[in-house]
Amino acid sequence: MAVKNLLIVESPTKVKAIKKFLGSNYDVAASQGHVRDLPRSQMGVDVEHDFEPKYITIRGKGDLLADLRKRVKKADRIYLATDPDREGEAISWHLTKALKLEDTGKPVYRITFNEITKKAVKDSFSEARDIDMQLVDAQQARRVLDRLVGYQISPLLWAKIKRGLSAGRVQSVALRIICDREEEIAAFIPQEYWTLDVSLLPPGEKKPVVARYYGDADGKRELQTEEEVQEVIKSLKGKKYVVEEVKKGERVKKAPLPFTTSTLQQEASKALNFGTQKTMRIAQQLYEGVDIKGRGTVGLITYLRTDSTRVSDEARSAAASYISEHFGKESLSGDLRAGKSGAKIQDAHEAIRPADITLTPVLVKDELSRDQFRLYQLIWRRFMASQMADARYETTSVRIAAGERRFSLSASRTVFDGFLNVYTDEDDKIEKQTLAQSLEKGAELKFEDFDSKQHFTAGPPHYTEASLVHDLETLGIGRPSTFAPTISTIQGRHYVTKEGKNLYVTELGEAVNRMMKEAFPSIVDVNFTANMEKLLDGVEDGTVRWKTIVENFYPDLEEAIKKAEKELEQVTIADEESEEVCENCGRHMVIKYGPHGKFLACPGFPECRNTKPYFEKIGVTCPKCGKDLVRKKTRKGRVYYGCAGNPECDFMSWQKPSKTACPQCGALMVERGNRLTCTNQECGFITEKPEEE
Ligand SMILES: [Zn+2]
Ligand SMILES: [Zn+2]
Ligand SMILES: [Zn+2]
Repeated sequence: MAVKNLLIVESPTKVKAIKKFLGSNYDVAASQGHVRDLPRSQMGVDVEHDFEPKYITIRGKGDLLADLRKRVKKADRIYLATDPDREGEAISWHLTKALKLEDTGKPVYRITFNEITKKAVKDSFSEARDIDMQLVDAQQARRVLDRLVGYQISPLLWAKIKRGLSAGRVQSVALRIICDREEEIAAFIPQEYWTLDVSLLPPGEKKPVVARYYGDADGKRELQTEEEVQEVIKSLKGKKYVVEEVKKGERVKKAPLPFTTSTLQQEASKALNFGTQKTMRIAQQLYEGVDIKGRGTVGLITYLRTDSTRVSDEARSAAASYISEHFGKESLSGDLRAGKSGAKIQDAHEAIRPADITLTPVLVKDELSRDQFRLYQLIWRRFMASQMADARYETTSVRIAAGERRFSLSASRTVFDGFLNVYTDEDDKIEKQTLAQSLEKGAELKFEDFDSKQHFTAGPPHYTEASLVHDLETLGIGRPSTFAPTISTIQGRHYVTKEGKNLYVTELGEAVNRMMKEAFPSIVDVNFTANMEKLLDGVEDGTVRWKTIVENFYPDLEEAIKKAEKELEQVTIADEESEEVCENCGRHMVIKYGPHGKFLACPGFPECRNTKPYFEKIGVTCPKCGKDLVRKKTRKGRVYYGCAGNPECDFMSWQKPSKTACPQCGALMVERGNRLTCTNQECGFITEKPEEE
């Protein structure tokens, strides 16, 4: 009788496809993610005894484990084929414990594949190995650290701010980064500047070209005010416009690297307007397998959690023949043209790429949902582009002299498309002004018109999910498996709210961040967190013992907790009373925290259940109608300042209005960081913010 094998994967979607690849000697089952975890009801880490984690079967997984045990009994060999990363390795390890595989005496192997294709799955058996405890330990360390932080700090948040809040290790520092950015934005004072364009007709042409004021004969000059613009225009009266210089150059735009988790999330956000979580959900579907007519269920992309840009030699040569055939050999990347093989990194991981490039987006379009198609197309194109040649542009910049004044214009023209044949990213907006041939040195141009515009310098932009992923990665505080969960957690907890693509901090997020910065400065310190992530990598490499990290981390946490608890004892936890009287029962209403920030509730609860929105007066009267200005929130929770007379009065300001009126013109001033600025644009008065505002 043939040997019976049992293969356990994570996701049930993969079961069908893998069964078909392997035939009848294989039983394939799914663990449906983790089967054991720390308990919910208690900390589950024995801090007195070497931080031993106490794992229990996840609620609802009992039947599944019983079924797996039955299958184990019938099998001669067991293959653990959970996902190829730390999390997957840990699931395999938990399976050996939960199913008591060591006691069965049966051979147990760990196999991994980066893609759900027949070849990848079959090949994985030749690399069968034991469970890699270094990977498992790296995951355990992360789990335990996160648990210690969450479990110990959350109760302090409940006592100080609102019940049910929770603090997380990576989430807290992500929140802090967003808060810091919002502070920078609030403190930014826009500077006025002007541009001056001139339309000029080249000799023998019907269409004018537009050149921009650059400066004077002795160098670049900025225009700060309208007076300066008028002065330049006046000085140009009767002047001839002559081409002084024509400079040609070449610019190369490098082909992009294939996607990692982070770059996929960023590009999907920019190009498809997908949130990071949506990107991961759809990518998971593409990875696990989609039914394709005539092929059955096939995994369309490689594993989606990776920070590697490595590409297997097979995928490279498949791309090379596709590109040669469709775009010509000259479109191959330099390395492929030279026949060089991939970088010699002994990296088990690969970039995110199509599992089979002959399955072009058009070919599979009908079998995919619209979102699956769009993401697959993005991944397919990006991968092809990464194997193609750089694009080259010819650039022309022209300097025009008019008396002492200088204008400039520039244009660029693609001379070789290279990878642009398949992929243009969103940042790649190249001005396509073609220049008339007659625009040569010495040519005299006919003046047509001036066009001047007022501008203000833009402050730092609000974070988006894409830019946050970018910064989390650059700062070293995120990993492929954590970007999306971190971002969805801070939104799910109403610490951060998304309006359009922008992320804003809510009142609740501000309160949590303030307390974390005060009581747990290291937890919200970017360098500390980045270093912690490096240590976790060290566990994976076998250079650091996982419990050493926890041992070193815990005493400081414990001390900070004790200190914070002591300080809390001095704070009365009673709700703050407001001036507002309950119209139902006459009690003074109290201020409470709801999911969207502060609100007023009657202390007569439960007899009186009156609640109403809380608008904190800021002690400044409305410049439009004289009523009180109050702190308000948008529907999504972003804080702004409005008028108590709303809806009759429409006054609103994102910056906090100041009690101090402008000493120069009497208008309202607003806070920008530690300065006050006049809201009257004509006036523009700026001063230091007084100490007690
Ligand atoms: Zn009441
Ligand atoms: Zn008003
Ligand atoms: Zn003023």
